[in-house]
Amino acid sequence: MRSFQVADFNAPLKKVEQPTPQPAGTQVLLKVKAAGVCHSDLHIWEGGYELGHGRKPLSLKDRGVSLPRTMGHETAGQIVAFGPEVKELDKGGLAIGDVVLAYPWLGCGKCPTCLAGDENMCAIKSNALGVFCDGGYADHMTVPHPKYLLDLKGLDPVTAAPYACSGVTTYSALKKVEKELNAPIVIFGAGGLGLMALSLLKAMGGKGAIVVDIDAKKRGAAEKAGALATVDGAAADALQQLQNKAGAPIRAAIDLVGNPQTTQLGFDCLIKGGKLIIVGLFGGGATFALPLIPIKAVTIQGSYVGNLRETQELLDLVRAKKIAPIPVTAMPLASANEALVDLQKGRLVGRAVLVP
Ligand SMILES: [Zn+2]
Ligand SMILES: [Zn+2]
Repeated sequence: MRSFQVADFNAPLKKVEQPTPQPAGTQVLLKVKAAGVCHSDLHIWEGGYELGHGRKPLSLKDRGVSLPRTMGHETAGQIVAFGPEVKELDKGGLAIGDVVLAYPWLGCGKCPTCLAGDENMCAIKSNALGVFCDGGYADHMTVPHPKYLLDLKGLDPVTAAPYACSGVTTYSALKKVEKELNAPIVIFGAGGLGLMALSLLKAMGGKGAIVVDIDAKKRGAAEKAGALATVDGAAADALQQLQNKAGAPIRAAIDLVGNPQTTQLGFDCLIKGGKLIIVGLFGGGATFALPLIPIKAVTIQGSYVGNLRETQELLDLVRAKKIAPIPVTAMPLASANEALVDLQKGRLVGRAVLVP
């Protein structure tokens, strides 16, 4: 088995060759077909998040991310073997040879939150694949139980892999403003998440979105992907432009960037009772005035990935509505380092997906 691991924070990934693991207990062994390169992999690689206001950065090492670690939480693969304790019923109809998406946002699996199906919100212990456990930057990976495997039923693994993170993240954020989708909403960020949000919004029957990005190339990609209009977030009159282009009061904004400028503009563009959903983890501190939160009766809500049920709903929606795949750049697994650097430098439009 060949994998590319974070051996040191901020250092190039290390190529590691080791015997292919045999699945133990209830594990399932997958042959990786595709592994998406996500922006949050950059944070894992760099070792943390900037919190702003001169605070000490949030360190992933302090949060239990130990090295070496094989990243990759957007993984599609083919089932090679089931562990000895996997019962026929556990397989949920899956068989060796099936191509599946690995749901990565695992928790402790035992607490009330996990048992209610919200493992992504587990407060006891995250066992997220590709973050706290080894993931898909490899030619093989193990998943602890077949219940975390979702049958792709013919969807292309390369374009479907990102549904495990960027897909379910945007789907879960859109679900939080589901009642507001009959009017234009505002989306900040036209990277992989932004383009995914546009296609999901359409499939969910939404009116559409005005997309804000400071990069003209990315705004162009958003327009091609069906944005109602785009706005340069760095323009002095960005707020005015947003309100003009929306043509109706803005009731919902989804911030897929999450920096002080985007959250400020997201906050400012909302009318009374509006909702700002913050998804992006760019970093920094909030700048909006506290009294305006009650005066505008604004709801500010964070959204972190999504649960297993939402991931299944998303795959069903993709198939039912024949959602066009987002632009993907397939790269060989051996180019994992280049993919991370390209992402860090903002050179990618759409998603890089590693293919072993
Ligand atoms: Zn991700
Ligand atoms: Zn738990």
